[in-house]
Amino acid sequence: MTGVGPGSPLPGGPVRDDAAAIAADLAELRHRIHQEPEIGLDLPQTQQKVLGALDGLPLELTLGRGLSSVTAVLRGGQPGRTVLLRGDMDALPITERTGLGYASAVTGVMHACGHDLHTAMLAGAARILSARRHELPGNVIFMFQPGEEGHAGARHMINEGVLDAAGERPVAAYALHVASAQLGLGLVATRAGSMMAAADVLDVTVRGHGGHASQPHLAADPIPAACEMVTALQTMVTRRFSVFDPVVITVGSFHAGTTDNVIPDEAHFLATVRSFSTAARDQVRAASQRLVADIAAAHGLQASAEYLDEYPVTVNDAAEAAFAAQAAADLFGDGRVLAQPHPLPGAEDFSFVLEQVPGAFIMLGACPAGTDPATAPFNHAADAVFDDAALADGTTLLAELALRRLAAAGPPG
Ligand SMILES: [Zn+2]
Ligand SMILES: [Zn+2]
Repeated sequence: MTGVGPGSPLPGGPVRDDAAAIAADLAELRHRIHQEPEIGLDLPQTQQKVLGALDGLPLELTLGRGLSSVTAVLRGGQPGRTVLLRGDMDALPITERTGLGYASAVTGVMHACGHDLHTAMLAGAARILSARRHELPGNVIFMFQPGEEGHAGARHMINEGVLDAAGERPVAAYALHVASAQLGLGLVATRAGSMMAAADVLDVTVRGHGGHASQPHLAADPIPAACEMVTALQTMVTRRFSVFDPVVITVGSFHAGTTDNVIPDEAHFLATVRSFSTAARDQVRAASQRLVADIAAAHGLQASAEYLDEYPVTVNDAAEAAFAAQAAADLFGDGRVLAQPHPLPGAEDFSFVLEQVPGAFIMLGACPAGTDPATAPFNHAADAVFDDAALADGTTLLAELALRRLAAAGPPG
């Protein structure tokens, strides 16, 4: 892509100093969000905290209609283009076991993926950029998003117009994700191309005809055929897909029958399907459904194999990933920026944004100081801990990316 040059120096003091000055406020906001976590698309308490943090800033605010999102647009004092920054806000159905002073007050709900940090960082970036509004060459869309954890909140916000909130499409979009392990505190990692997997569901029902278990030839037993499908799917993964563009299929749910001496009418299983390229995703979608249908037919059974497209591959634009890595290196030093060697097998609904806007998804290490990243509990664990020290760095990086990218894009037209 064009227009991504080296970042221009900007007037005013370093953004990093601005973030350091509000670090205590960021931690306080993060702790309040952490103590009152909410799941899914409807996060009214979290939305109120965000609105409180943005109160008084020169932002155009739009609240979601079908979800409790907050879209905030900052219009800079200088002519320019638009950049989007995104922070997700939802928690997970987990009972927290960290023992932290600000641990979740809600049994069964926990910010175990660090989205409380993302929300606070984005609010911090909005505050810092608002204070620099007069020098800002263009617009920034702050996308406060519910429902990342399996509810496709980003897709809902796109349908409600977040990408057009400033009146023109953003030239770039960025999101950070903290990691409680595997990446040391303060380290930044990203890569060009595939960054996270696509996550889809294969939902299979095998239909036969039940009967007495002692006379299977008089029935049509769905269980052996369903078992054959489970192993055949694994064989398909190794024989049909390149090891350099892999897919992962895991059958996580398998149910059939009621007792030992009855052949049931049906067997049912669910699999998660992960892929790292659109080509592999298209191939596995078709191949898995055909495999199931043909094995069923071979045994004289019926099968329905529904392939549910959930989250697409999260694909970083190569120029934007390089731009973000360079900004991080300039801010924090080369030693804190890693080229991520391969995509992560998790999935992200920021992928829906990156399908329409070039941008980058960036990991930020938040492993507690003094803890070994190799053994610390990872995101989604009930004892996962994210260090507040990542807050100022994440805020700095988001704000700096918007400033630099707008400066690099130049005026419209
Ligand atoms: Zn998560
Ligand atoms: Zn997450």
